[in-house]
Formats: sequence, C-alpha cells, structure tokens
Amino acid sequence: MAQGVWAIAEQRDGELRKVTYEIVSEGRRIADALGQELTAVLLGSNIKDKAEELAHYGADKVIVADDPKLDPYTTDAYTEAIAQLVQANDPAVLLMGASVQGKDLSARLSARLGVAMAQDCTGFQVEDGNFVAIRPIYAGKAYAKVAFENSWPNMATARPNVMAVAEPDSSRSAEIIDANVDLPDEKLKTKVVEIIRDESGKIELTEADKIVSGGRGMKGPENYKILEELADLIGAAVGASRAAVDAGWRPQSDQVGQTGKVVSPNLYIACGISGAIQHLAGMGTSKIIVAINKDPDAPIFQKADYGVVGDLFEVVPAFTEEVKKYL
Ligand SMILES: Cc1cc2nc3c(=O)[nH]c(=O)nc-3n(C[C@H](O)[C@H](O)[C@H](O)COP(=O)(O)OP(=O)(O)OC[C@H]3O[C@@H](n4cnc5c(N)ncnc54)[C@H](O)[C@@H]3O)c2cc1C
Repeated sequence: MAQGVWAIAEQRDGELRKVTYEIVSEGRRIADALGQELTAVLLGSNIKDKAEELAHYGADKVIVADDPKLDPYTTDAYTEAIAQLVQANDPAVLLMGASVQGKDLSARLSARLGVAMAQDCTGFQVEDGNFVAIRPIYAGKAYAKVAFENSWPNMATARPNVMAVAEPDSSRSAEIIDANVDLPDEKLKTKVVEIIRDESGKIELTEADKIVSGGRGMKGPENYKILEELADLIGAAVGASRAAVDAGWRPQSDQVGQTGKVVSPNLYIACGISGAIQHLAGMGTSKIIVAINKDPDAPIFQKADYGVVGDLFEVVPAFTEEVKKYL
C-alpha cells in the first residue's frame, strides 16, 4: 500500500527556492495529519549539502538524486528520475510547487505515472484520513476541493507564496538516502545549450513579496517610472495588467492574470487597474490588496483590503514621499 508524503524540492544553481520551504513545511503538516513520514526529494548536481536544510523544515528523510544530467533542470531528466523513484518507493502523496518549473514537471510526471494531479492549489488538508487539495476554479471565483480516487500517489502542486513556511529547527536531522537513478542518454531528448539570464536584477514577479502593478490608467509607458520609484523603495516588483501589456507599455513577462503570471505576494498595489476577473485570477490570493483608482465603482475595490479613490498621478507620488519618511 502506498505510504508516505513526498515533497519535491526545487533548486536553482544549488540554492533552494522559496517554494521548496513552503512545500516541505506544508508536507510536514500533511504527513503529521496522515500519521506518515515526510520525505523530501532533492535533484541536481553537487546538491547533497542542501539535504540537511530540508530536515530543518520537517523532512524525516531526504532522497538525493545527484547526477550531472540533472543540472540544469530539464523536463526529461527530472521526470525520468522522479518516476523511477516513485515506482520504487510507492509514496501516497506527492507535492511540489506550482512554480514555472513545477508546473512543467508536474504535468509531465503525472502523465508519465498515469495519475491524477491537482494543479496550483491554495490549500491541502486531510479529511477522514484522505488527502484533499483545494484549488481555485473559474478564474478564482470559486474554490474546488479535490479528492483522489484510486490514483497513487495523490499528486498536487502548491501555488507559490500561499502556504506558510515553518520556523526552521536546526536540531532536526533526517535520514539522507543517495538515490540510484538511471538516466540513459536515449531517454533524455532535450539538452540545455545556453541559459540567457535576465540581467536587469528585477525581482521575479512570481517570487516577489510585494508588487506594484499598473494598468491602462497609467496612460503610457513613460509613467511607469512613478511605480518603479515606489517599487524600488519598498523592494517590490512591478507588474502590469493585460491592457498595459497589449498596448506595448510593458513586456509580456510583467503581465499578471489568467493569461499572465499568477502571483500571491504579501502586498499587491493595483494602480489604474479596473479589476477584471481575468486580472483577479492572477492576484486574488495576494495577502493584502491595495487599489488606487479614480472610479469608486471599479470592481477592484470589491477585492481590495484598502482602497484609495483618486488620481493615481497624485496618490502614488504622495504615497512614495510618505514612505520615504519611514526609510
Ligand atoms: C481570455 C482573456 C484573458 C485575459 N487575461 C488577462 C490577464 O492575464 N491579465 C489581465 O490583466 N487582463 C486579462 N484580460 C483582460 C481583462 O479582461 C481586462 O480587459 C484588463 O484586465 C483590463 O486592464 P486594466 O484594468 O488595466 O484596464 P481598464 O479595464 O481599462 O481599467 C483601467 C482603470 O484605470 C482607472 N484609471 C484611469 N485613469 C486613472 C487615474 N488617473 N488614476 C486612477 N485610476 C485611473 C480607470 O478608472 C479604470 O478602472 C483577459 C481577457 C480575456 C478575454
């Protein structure tokens, strides 16, 4: 019978991503509720030294697949490695982050294993001894509770920045297991030939703790400098609505929403954004939403925790000046 909760760790350049801590912390909670062990799975090359850290966040065991073919990430190699490990160990629950990498990997892995998968979940729980995932549907208008029937492992991904990270306990240790994975070249159909990094130093939207976002109300690309100034001050990333992206004011990579990025920062400041359902789908799970809009009937105010009805070209600079007093 399938046993144990697995959390697939995500690392880049040997550094664990924030979503890894979220998934391991949440995995610990679920493992406790099921009365089972939590195993973290770490893949990459020369990454064994990171295993201990996963123990601090709650892993009982850490399976380390250390192979040069697992660095950098490729869908083929990771899918092959994890599928082999799952088939050999038969876990009951398999969790990973719904990051760009996690969405890519989880889709392929669930197909390879022939199991159901709940993507981009905002909560996990155990009901009557069964794992249940909660995920937004209808562009965030409703939440579905997803249970699994005869599908092992129960597979789900967690929306980044939603689940709480446990306080690390450096006295915790885990059994570290070197995994034997066989990655023959004929199974690896893709090869990374070059990585072109974004050298702008911009904070990645999906990982940002704070986001200042601008929509059509910004009136033109040149006006984003007022958002950038505020964002720089508070350590935020700058996002945009699709209207702003379609107008060519901001790159597509800045778009938040149903056809853009799904973000869940602690603070989301929406400036000149009406709050269309497709935009809300991308930021509705933000912890605190501030809306600045001159139209008191703009739908964004129904979602906002704090709203300022006013001209953003007056409100944003005034807010920035106020913030400066506290820095
Ligand atoms: C299939 C599909 C997918 C989509 N995906 C996305 C998506 O991923 N992301 C997304 O954002 N949209 C998406 N859209 C588009 C979405 O429906 C809206 O058209 C879009 O979000 C509107 O962007 P906006 O709020 O910037 O513009 P508008 O709706 O035009 O709103 C502009 C707002 O700015 C305010 N404003 C104007 N001037 C000022 C000022 N000086 N001060 C303060 N406020 C001011 C106005 O009152 C208004 O509320 C999608 C649509 C479809 C059909």
